[in-house]
Amino acid sequence: MEIVVSGIRPTGNLHLGNYFGAVKSFLQLQNEYNCFFFIADWHSLTTHPHPDNIRKSVKVILAEYLACGIDPEKATIYIQSDVREVAELYLYLNMNAYLGELERVTSFKDKVRQQPDNVNAGLLTYPSLMAADIIIHKAVKVPVGKDQEQNMEMARRFARRFNTIYGVEYFPEPASFHLSEKAVKVPGLDGSGKMGKSEGNAIYLIDDEKTIRKKVMKAVTDSGPTEPDSVKPEPVANLFTMMDIVSSKETYDYFNEKYNACEIRYGDMKKQLAEDICTFCAPVRERILDIIADDDYIDKVARTGAEKAAESAAKTIREVRRIIGFRP
Ligand code: AMP
Repeated sequence: MEIVVSGIRPTGNLHLGNYFGAVKSFLQLQNEYNCFFFIADWHSLTTHPHPDNIRKSVKVILAEYLACGIDPEKATIYIQSDVREVAELYLYLNMNAYLGELERVTSFKDKVRQQPDNVNAGLLTYPSLMAADIIIHKAVKVPVGKDQEQNMEMARRFARRFNTIYGVEYFPEPASFHLSEKAVKVPGLDGSGKMGKSEGNAIYLIDDEKTIRKKVMKAVTDSGPTEPDSVKPEPVANLFTMMDIVSSKETYDYFNEKYNACEIRYGDMKKQLAEDICTFCAPVRERILDIIADDDYIDKVARTGAEKAAESAAKTIREVRRIIGFRP
């Protein structure tokens, strides 16, 4: 079975954008590929988090992915820092990674602009750690957003370079598997653009019903169409897109017909949308809370995942050490 690897940032809670844009693809991938999903807690050290924060955010994100349906029996879900072989491969890749190419990476340049007082070597070598995460399992496919394309290009380059330097055909070049082409883009309800944590417009899976209703009722609309069948301006189109994602076809068609007949009452539409989002989120939220309360279960999942990932990683490292000229 082909190997797929994907990293998960342990930053904040999952929102509907994450769910319909990425997590849902993971649920499908775990049935079709040999998937390794890891929580990238080493990567998160570039921002110097407090130990309590790391522990808590890793636990929460793990619980949320499990609650969404990532199945530890099907996929290997693990915490990056549990698999130390990755750090060893990162070291080897760094020996053949050049300052010029690392400095040219757009996300590095962005970070330099955003946090000029903390331009650490971890930020600079983010692409080589990401490459190590991927090629340690000899992955052939990596589901990523478009923003990760440059890092993926680096991963391919580092894999290729290793093969060339040592005259081997050892690492396959990992292909990007663009989520954005397969998945829906979940809009924000604040007028324009997508839903996102940094956009401040996210509806989280963990939100309770009152919070969800409040967020949806605040959605931006307009005074309503005056011509039948008119084109929907972005804020209204976003409301309909969200309804298309979470509500039934009948519900969507009902409000769409009302809109086209210039009889739309946005208040009613928002109420219905809020109900449908609550219906979707409530069972997920309940599962998240149950899992967060069950430390034994989380520990067991993390330990089992680490064992499976370490087995695959240790095999690669044994072979890599032999190729480089170290004792396996
Ligand atoms: P982030 O929370 O920004 O780290 O996003 C993680 C992943 O979730 C991204 O790579 C996307 O695949 C997905 N994602 C985030 N926001 C959205 C959105 N509004 N619509 C669709 N997918 C999204």
